[in-house]
Amino acid sequence: MPLINVRNPRTGRIDYRFEQTGAEELTRLATGMRAAQVEWHDGGVELRCRMMLRLAAAISERRDVLFNALSADTGRVRETGMEIDAVISSIERWCRLAPELLAPGEPKSTDIPFIELGRQLAPYPLTGIISPWNIPLVLACIDAIPALLAGSAVIVKPSEITPRFVEPLTDIVAGVSGLAEVFRLVPGDGSLGQALIDHADLVCFTGSVATGKQVALAAAQNFIPCQLELGGKDPAIVTADTDIQRSAAALCWGGMVNAGQSCLSVERVYAETPVYHDLTAAIAAKARSLKLNADDINEGEIGPVISENQHHIIESHLQDATAKGATIECGGRIVEHNGGLWCEPTVLSNVNHDMLVMTEETFGPVLPVMAFSTDQEAISLANDTIYGLSAAVFANDVQRAGAIAEKLDAGGICINDAGLTSIMHEGEKQAFKSSGMGGSRMGPASIRRFLRTKALLENTQLCRDPWWY
Ligand code: NAD
Repeated sequence: MPLINVRNPRTGRIDYRFEQTGAEELTRLATGMRAAQVEWHDGGVELRCRMMLRLAAAISERRDVLFNALSADTGRVRETGMEIDAVISSIERWCRLAPELLAPGEPKSTDIPFIELGRQLAPYPLTGIISPWNIPLVLACIDAIPALLAGSAVIVKPSEITPRFVEPLTDIVAGVSGLAEVFRLVPGDGSLGQALIDHADLVCFTGSVATGKQVALAAAQNFIPCQLELGGKDPAIVTADTDIQRSAAALCWGGMVNAGQSCLSVERVYAETPVYHDLTAAIAAKARSLKLNADDINEGEIGPVISENQHHIIESHLQDATAKGATIECGGRIVEHNGGLWCEPTVLSNVNHDMLVMTEETFGPVLPVMAFSTDQEAISLANDTIYGLSAAVFANDVQRAGAIAEKLDAGGICINDAGLTSIMHEGEKQAFKSSGMGGSRMGPASIRRFLRTKALLENTQLCRDPWWY
């Protein structure tokens, strides 16, 4: 296979190459993993938990090597540490929950007196996972962990834009005896993602809407279910009675953490007219205080634009907005430092829904602010989108906030904060509209996505003639 070149987001240089997993190798892997999955499942959930906890311990032990690779992939450090911590704590949390969630339960009587009903949860033998570049480690593992604990074997195809972490993570998995037989990462581009769908019994995809549609089509052709977690254009509505400074800080965090390269990022703000100017000024002041980490990776809050293609999208949205009359309150440029590209924290005012920045996913540290007069107008503007991932409402009057939240077409709504869905574990949420399809990735229901329910129906009155009923 030809080598795939990988650009470094901090230098713009190609400084990493990898060989894509070939078609024959993928077939060989999938066949072997299907065979190993039987023992993985039959060994029971307690054994699977023990092995997954060994994986968490091995990640902790080899943290440095994983950290360095992931940090080179993404050009930032703070979020890199958070990713590793999140994966370790996710394994530990799922290991606490899985035994109870997977328990078959006692057989029970039914409304037909001679039938007793039992239940078996049967995992999909092989789960295929395709993940994006923006939070590479977490999104490669977020579905793999519950799938493995459910008893499925898992092949992950991470993004070719951030592949450096794949090798150290593969080594860490290989160090846990027996785990690599049911858990593999395969490096490659979209063509390998497509090929994986042909081998899997269930596919989990995280990425753009455009690719998600191709994945859904391929899954349909193979007649396998797919779970899609796609893009968003998350709105935030701010009413006039809200605490301006607090809301501005939360909006800046929600829109600019990870340099805005988060699916649950706040992408547009609607401010009630009396506070429109003050809120815009407060968000801009907060945004101005954020520093790029261009000179020193350990300083500053805003990392580079990880994907070269994304910088064209951000730039086109900013150009389109200013050409149509938007005002740049702060930022507004993509700057180059030593070959890497950084988007300045940007706040725009005088925006409207004719602008791409209000309708298409920007995926950068860009917050456009628009005024609204009535709650109904704010709700209509927020829902005027193909997306429905999450949203936020800021209001001192929590009843009013709740009434607005209920009318928003999105799977997770934060009240008086933003981005809470990324740290929520108990709640369940689904993606609305074009932001996705399938069950909840969050909460206990998440593990059910990897299981099929089998009913075991026992006739307890053997003397009864089957022809009788
Ligand atoms: P992308 O769709 O370009 O790529 C995602 C993955 O799909 C990559 O691994 C890629 O190699 C693979 N791929 C590409 N073409 C394919 C094909 N035809 N068949 C199968 N696989 C294929 O997305 P991206 O640019 O890597 O990620 C950014 C997007 O992901 C944004 O839209 C963001 O909102 C979204 N995202 C969503 C969530 C969520 O939970 N909803 C989380 C993170 C990112």
